[in-house]
Amino acid sequence: MKRTIFLSAISIFSFQFSIFAQSPHPKLIVGIVVDQMRYDYLYKYWDKYGNDGLKKLMKGGAVFKNGHYNYIPTYTAPGHCSIYTGTTPAVHGIAGNDWIDRISGKSIYCTSDSLEVTPVGTSDKKIAAHSPRRQMVTTIGDELKIFTNFKSKVVGVALKDRSSILPAGHNANGAYWYDNTTGGLVSSSFYVKELPVWVTKFNEKKLADAYLSKPWNTLLPIETYTESFADSNKYEGLFKEEKKPIFPHDLPALRKANGMGLLRETPFGNTFTKEMAIAAIEGEGLGLDNIPDLLAVSFSSPDHIGHKYGPQSVEVEDCYLRLDLEIAALISYLETKVGKDNFLLFLAADHGASQNANYLSDQKIPAGHYKPKEFTDSLKAMMAQRYGAGDWIIGYENDQVYFNRPLMASRRMNPEEVENVVARWIETRPNVHKAIPSHVLRNGAASAKMEQLAQNGLHPFRSGDVTVIMNFGYMEWAETGTTHGTSFTYDTHIPMIFYGKGVKPGEYLQAANIVDIAPTISTIANIPFPGAATGKVLDIK
Ligand code: ZN
Ligand code: ZN
Ligand code: ZN
Repeated sequence: MKRTIFLSAISIFSFQFSIFAQSPHPKLIVGIVVDQMRYDYLYKYWDKYGNDGLKKLMKGGAVFKNGHYNYIPTYTAPGHCSIYTGTTPAVHGIAGNDWIDRISGKSIYCTSDSLEVTPVGTSDKKIAAHSPRRQMVTTIGDELKIFTNFKSKVVGVALKDRSSILPAGHNANGAYWYDNTTGGLVSSSFYVKELPVWVTKFNEKKLADAYLSKPWNTLLPIETYTESFADSNKYEGLFKEEKKPIFPHDLPALRKANGMGLLRETPFGNTFTKEMAIAAIEGEGLGLDNIPDLLAVSFSSPDHIGHKYGPQSVEVEDCYLRLDLEIAALISYLETKVGKDNFLLFLAADHGASQNANYLSDQKIPAGHYKPKEFTDSLKAMMAQRYGAGDWIIGYENDQVYFNRPLMASRRMNPEEVENVVARWIETRPNVHKAIPSHVLRNGAASAKMEQLAQNGLHPFRSGDVTVIMNFGYMEWAETGTTHGTSFTYDTHIPMIFYGKGVKPGEYLQAANIVDIAPTISTIANIPFPGAATGKVLDIK
């Protein structure tokens, strides 16, 4: 009798234990953001990708083929913030990489925080006095921390400060980014008093030094890069003091003029980032137990390379072929260390990119350049003529005109009327598609797609007073390379892939927005939504 009771106690115990062993959560959530990854890169280089990187995620994961940004401006900081908060700049407040402060009239960088925090790992405030304080809502990681009573660990890694800080959120154990002067990682007192031992050890490896001591040659024989334009062409930019934009790029020689920041503009910046990610998993002990952790990784180098060379370049192609290998290495590490069925991963981009405008023109496609300075100078002249002398415009940022609101108030002007006048005037300028007064966006539910995107991107006091939409293909950029920021699909269409624990593999054609990632990840991982999420849950469970 006694023996039976004892046995059933054991079986009850082991039954409970087995339920316990099947945690409803992944051990580790891994977010991968590729800076400036256009959706078409998944297929453009398909034949050259290996089986263990992007193809593995696409074949074994849920691939959203119609995933877009649902706001403008499509820049890095709002992109990363929107992915991890599940909402748009109108709500999370990261209105651009920079925006104009209404009170001081000065440009503000999204993560600068030199009054409140001190740099860690450097004494340079510009490099590391940063924090996520201007992000006005919670991230996936913030909610995860609160949900597990702060037992979860949350870490952000990227070369760019904003791409590490904004995804990691307000409660992260750490966010680390790259220092151009030393080639090592830094952080701020917002997270840590001093660099953790794992970061110091990582810095001691001097990986940037090693990566920049060899030339950048193509991964495969260069004649096989038939998806891209010839290596030497007029659409490509140059490294400082480089004579021609061709392979091999002599990194050891270029280092003298370009400094350690050179790493960012090479595919080895991605190798460095992958090593950072692995060092963070090891160093912070991520994914070791049933309490879910989060690692936010962002690959910044594809953006720098894309800006310099444009999407049709051999350089961009080589960047993605090599990135595919870095992603393969990271997946393989996760499978070994955290376990095949224990992690949940997503891959997305913070925006796409246009083709080079001159390249498009040469192919008879409408495109061109514009200079905001010429544009705002004539706007100022028009306003002086109409309203009298005065500093009517305090700035132009993110394709938005910022009015001098105090001056207008002192002259008892109706700002809405001025918005209308300025918008109508802007629409008479060359290559402008339309100009939208902010009060129209603030007051009404925008119905047309462009107005909707502008409305979702418009923060009440951080954004400007008139949003300017330039014609298709027009950019504020140099003659070489390319940029992003618009509402056109070349900037909004990006990869959205979910992979791992709880994800039903498949290809999905329905419309998905970037803000859907966070609530979807929260649902699959059985953790709370970011508090201000406006996205929907994608049905992939
Ligand atoms: Zn970016
Ligand atoms: Zn080239
Ligand atoms: Zn960019």
